[in-house]
Amino acid sequence: MKRLLLVLLAAGGAALWWRRRSSATTEDTWSAPAPPSDVPSEPPKLGGDVDPELLAILACPLDKQAVKREGNYLVCQECQRHYPIRDGIPVMLIDEALSPEQAAAAQA
Ligand SMILES: [Zn+2]
Repeated sequence: MKRLLLVLLAAGGAALWWRRRSSATTEDTWSAPAPPSDVPSEPPKLGGDVDPELLAILACPLDKQAVKREGNYLVCQECQRHYPIRDGIPVMLIDEALSPEQAAAAQA
């Protein structure tokens, strides 16, 4: 009888130990930061094919002048801002454009 009690105590201790261990494991899982899966690891590449029809209707957002393709950029014929083409998509944003000075520095 005394021996049975000892076995039960040992089993209870093991169960407690197991519960503490598994709850600790759960906490580890919760605290581990999940790696970002939907963020592209590489930025879009400059260049790519741009639809000629799209190119014909694009204009500089600043002065509404026509743009001409020069390498990986669309260059405004008026203010000479360089709008980057990323993965074939012209980025017609003044904030994203290179100024004539920046473009000259990038080409030098
Ligand atoms: Zn312009």
